[in-house]
Amino acid sequence: MDRQQILDLYQWDDGICFRHPSRGPVVTAVVGTIHPRADGEKEVRACRDCVITMEDIRRENAARAGSDYQPGPARQGQD
Ligand SMILES: [Zn+2]
Repeated sequence: MDRQQILDLYQWDDGICFRHPSRGPVVTAVVGTIHPRADGEKEVRACRDCVITMEDIRRENAARAGSDYQPGPARQGQD
């Protein structure tokens, strides 16, 4: 799978990358949600570079653990 195929699995929209907040609004995808005690649910968004970095890490971890690598946004509950 190449970079573009992985990026195509995500939905892209303007937002703030959780690793690069100082860059301001960039094209980002939701990579997870956090649940701060105070205010319900917050989306965690990442820019293209960070999504690719995270996918690389997941692929390496899966290879090390001998499990299947499934690119794309983390699924919540069942499909
Ligand atoms: Zn980023």
